[in-house]
Order: sequence, then C-alpha cells, then structure tokens
Amino acid sequence: MDKKKIETFRKQLEQRQADLRKIVARTEQDGREADVGTAQDIADRAANSYTKEFLFHQSNNERQLLQSVEIALSRISEGVFGECINCGNDINPKRLEAVPWTRYCIACQEKLEQGQLEEANS
Ligand SMILES: [Zn+2]
Repeated sequence: MDKKKIETFRKQLEQRQADLRKIVARTEQDGREADVGTAQDIADRAANSYTKEFLFHQSNNERQLLQSVEIALSRISEGVFGECINCGNDINPKRLEAVPWTRYCIACQEKLEQGQLEEANS
C-alpha cells in the first residue's frame, strides 16, 4: 500500500482512538456516578443496577474497539498494515476504508465467524 494511503488511515485511526478514549473515560465516570445517590426502594435499585450493567457492557465494546484501533496503529508502525494477519494477503482497500482496524481479509474473516479459524492474539 502506498504511504499516502497509509497516512490517511493512520489519521483516521488516531482520530477514532481519541474519540474512543473520551467515550471510555466518560462511561467510567458515569458508572461511578450511578453509584452515588442512595437508591430508596427496590425499583430504584433495580434501575440503578440496570444502568450500571448497561454502561459496563457499553464500555466493554468501546474498550474492545479501542484495543483494535491501537493494534491497527501499531501495525502501521510495523509496516504490516493492510495485510491479513492469517494468510498474509492484502486486505481489500474498500474493506479497510469501512473498517480500518480489521486484521483479516474477507475470506479469513468468514472462516473466523464460522469458527474455522482461531483468532490470532497479536
Ligand atoms: Zn486472510
């Protein structure tokens, strides 16, 4: 992939990383605030723990995405960005434009989703 293109992806990813960091920090803050203010009755308490549960799952998703974005950025600095981590083929540029943090080409992604492929750790 040419350097200009990679630079565009890097900017996108850095922007996304900054946004996600803000969201993750804010969700953690909200989670703490949900603890403050003693709930009076069972309904309040249930609502409160539901909110916390919801915030927790939401921040988990954001955190996972943030991790993927950070891995993508380190793959750019390693010079392997845009290569499928499994088969080494180039990932379709259209796919990268839609999901710049993806590490798999479409064929391997399908295998992964069908359970035919073990998720790589790095
Ligand atoms: Zn592949």
